[in-house]
This record gives sequence, structure tokens and C-alpha cells, in this order.
Amino acid sequence: MSPRALPTLLSLTAADALGAATEFRTPEAIRARYGDTFTSYQPGSVFGFAPGEATDDSQMVAATLRGYARGEGLPGVLAALREWLGTAPPDVGGLTRAALREGELEGGTRAWTESGHQSAGNGGLMRIAAVWLAGFRGAALERMDRLDARAALLDAGLLGLSTRPAHDAFREGDRAARSEVRARVRSGLLGHVTSQSGYVLDTLEAAAAHARADSWLACVEPAVLRGDDSDTVACVAGAVAGARGLEVPPHLLPPLRLGHSWPGWERGWSCLEHFPALLEGARAQPRP
Ligand SMILES: [Mg+2]
Repeated sequence: MSPRALPTLLSLTAADALGAATEFRTPEAIRARYGDTFTSYQPGSVFGFAPGEATDDSQMVAATLRGYARGEGLPGVLAALREWLGTAPPDVGGLTRAALREGELEGGTRAWTESGHQSAGNGGLMRIAAVWLAGFRGAALERMDRLDARAALLDAGLLGLSTRPAHDAFREGDRAARSEVRARVRSGLLGHVTSQSGYVLDTLEAAAAHARADSWLACVEPAVLRGDDSDTVACVAGAVAGARGLEVPPHLLPPLRLGHSWPGWERGWSCLEHFPALLEGARAQPRP
């Protein structure tokens, strides 16, 4: 196992839990309540997460890793995410919910198409660290991406998109989305933050910008203090900070929990104690 896998999983979870208290709040309200720094878990989550509890972002990473551990490939991941969704976790995004409810691997394609290629939640960005944590690297990651794109176009034929205009619309939407992703990553790497609105491209840009800093807290704290979708931006920045080898402040690790129970995970479980087995199970499976 990569020596950075466990620290990265703990890092994204700790960042998510730190941001849970300030989600949906304004920077002014955050400073009025918590002060100018944010270095330890605090109460105040609008979803009732206790200090140290991480939200849907980290829960979906854990559920994805549990899915890989089934050894059934992507159908196993889908089944594991549906088990998690079936226990009514708070704060699930609309596109994630719609995609998983389809119950098929092409659910994401169908849900996005049904939104007119407009819906742009953060769910995919929240979960993506799980792919790297499960051990996919380089050529395997690239192959998955190509397969996904091709499968999406093939699946479009199975989803009622049987006309040429519908295929063309999907292809155009996909091409435009990929180009926007590249542009916003470049912008973030230059330090630009448009907003933490919860729109996926804003999240991507903000997380890329925050995660350039020199220490873990310097990557995560600005996301927490900026509010809005602070838990998700912090979580994505925390994943990058962890993968870079920046160390989570030690006091944030012992209290860390996932703020929800579902089959295979208990809300009261210590992440420090249970994450090693979660990762080992996912990474024991053969890579495609
Ligand atoms: Mg969240």
C-alpha cells in the first residue's frame, strides 16, 4: 500500500469534519461566532454533525472503498454507494441522489442528460480520491477514464438517447464540460477563487487554489473560514494536501469519526482505528 494512502484518507476526512461547522454560513457569521482562526473541531453544523464528525463527502469515499472491497468491480461500488444512500445520510446532493437511484452504472449519464447537461453538483469530486486510494495509478487511471467516456456514449443508446441529435448533444455537453474542468484547474493553480458556492467547477478551482499552501492548516483553514460549501472545498483541498504529504495536526486525529452509520460502518467508530482495514480491503482487489 502506498505510504500516503492512509494519511490522505485521514486528511480529507479531518478537513471535511473541520468544515462541517461552517457549511452554508457567510465569512462574516463564521468570524463572529468562531473568531479569525479555525484550528479545531467546533459545534454548529446545520446537519447536526458533532465536532469531529465528517459529512457525506468522506462517507462517500469510505462507501466507495467498501465497494471496491467487494471484488465485483464497478457494480460493487455502485451497490455499496446505494447501501449508503439507502440509510438516508444527510446533505446528499441532487445529482448524486438521482444518479444512484437509477441503480445502473449509466445512472450518472442518464441523470446528467435528464438535467439538460446543466446539473453540476460536487458528488463526483467528493468521491474521486477513493479511486486513487484504492490503488489506481497512471495508465490504469487513464484507461478507466477512456472506458468511462466510451461507455457513457454507448450507454446513451440504451437510455433513450437513440437519436443522432441526442447523441450529438451529449457529446457536445461532455466536450464542453471537460474543457471547463481543465480551465478551472489552471485558474485555481494560479490562486484564483471565484466562490465556494457548491457548483462543481467553483469547488474544483477553490480547492486547487487553497491546496497550494505550505502547511496542512494553511490549505484547509481558508476553505473553512470562507463558508458556503466549506466542508466539500476543505475535503477536496484536504485530499490534495494529504497526497502532497502535508501532515494533519495531530490533535485532529483521535476525535475523528464519520457522522453516519450504514451497513459496514458505525458512526461511533474511530477513523484512526478503522481506516486501515477499510483501505486494505479496497486495495486487496486486483487492478484492472
Ligand atoms: Mg458535505
